[in-house]
Amino acid sequence: MGVFSLVAETGHEQVLFGNDPKSGLQTIIAIHSTALGPALGGTRFYPYDNEEQALWDVLRLSRGMTLKAAAAGLDLGGGKAVIIGDPLRDKNERLWRAYGRMVDSLNGRYITAEDVGTTSLDLAMVRRETRWACGVPLEEGGSGDPSPATARGLLAGLKATAEFLWGADDLRGRRVAIQGVGKVGYHFARLLVNEGVEVIVADIYQPALAKAVDDLGVKAVGLEEIMTVDCDVFSPCALGAILNQRSIPKLNCEAVAGSANNQLEKEEDALLLAEHGILYAPDFLVNAGGLINVFEELQGYSEQRALHHVGVIGRRTLDVLTVAKERGINPQDAAMQLATKRIEMISDLRRLSRGGLAWTEVNGT
Ligand code: NAD
Repeated sequence: MGVFSLVAETGHEQVLFGNDPKSGLQTIIAIHSTALGPALGGTRFYPYDNEEQALWDVLRLSRGMTLKAAAAGLDLGGGKAVIIGDPLRDKNERLWRAYGRMVDSLNGRYITAEDVGTTSLDLAMVRRETRWACGVPLEEGGSGDPSPATARGLLAGLKATAEFLWGADDLRGRRVAIQGVGKVGYHFARLLVNEGVEVIVADIYQPALAKAVDDLGVKAVGLEEIMTVDCDVFSPCALGAILNQRSIPKLNCEAVAGSANNQLEKEEDALLLAEHGILYAPDFLVNAGGLINVFEELQGYSEQRALHHVGVIGRRTLDVLTVAKERGINPQDAAMQLATKRIEMISDLRRLSRGGLAWTEVNGT
């Protein structure tokens, strides 16, 4: 499929290919939608096997950001960027500054932040060339690593899921299996232990696993076992596309709630979860804490206000689960409907106020 057909299919507004041979920078910035505001989304630094894979990833991730921002009630659109390279080997000052200039050329239509392979220190370097970068360290006046806020939002989403399923948001004595105890998974495990939850973890990276076990006293199991272990909630905090035709029949839980982006391999896997009696807390709804936190940086960061807004994820999750039940649809569809309805409503309003739409077009009379 050609690039233009692909972009037409995914509905993106703009895709920018950036190249700086001297530093080795090869980047793709994808702006999916600016209907609600500037497109905000992190920069993923990843050793993609080929350019097609990088393009596909950035298109998929940026579309997800549009839904995430809209469902979180933020005045933000959806965007994302990828840099092709090995984050352990290929980062250098010139590369970050060249990248910063490319972000700057979009004049605020795209605002970047952290993602897999990038850190708040990298963002501080990008910020030297553009003001359209957030998630820089606290010492530099930013909001720092968004992962603790993501974990807090996930806890709020999980409590809402518990209330919906079991009639109370008290998690004491429940068993939660976390796949991946990296930046988010580790913080989430710590919050759960404090809530009296029995936490089981797995990770391919031995030091991360050892840190969780040593610091938090959680139980470690193997990489396969984490997907089949008897638990109340399975929490994917590592990879996307982890919920699929092969994995869902083996799950041994009542609910899934995790931070990983794009957990469903295909849209129809939401139905398969429901057929297996598993309640799915939509990923883009419960993992929005980090995005809410960086959005607060744009307003002049206050940790107290950010945490208050992150906590609202609980009420939104309960609303979505309730609406899904009332309408007889799965929670993923209910969350997508919430997001798309908000985008349509506000874009209509803005077009109307610019005089772009005749009143009758909106009013239908
Ligand atoms: P991370 O890289 O710090 O942690 C991921 C962990 O998963 C690592 O420790 C890694 O070793 C482990 N892992 C990888 N493959 C695994 C496998 N097959 N089985 C078990 N463990 C495996 O990343 P993170 O920032 O914690 O993010 C985790 C997920 O949440 C990602 O999908 C990310 O896109 C998503 N997310 C993160 C944030 C955030 O604030 N960091 C916000 C929203 C969504």
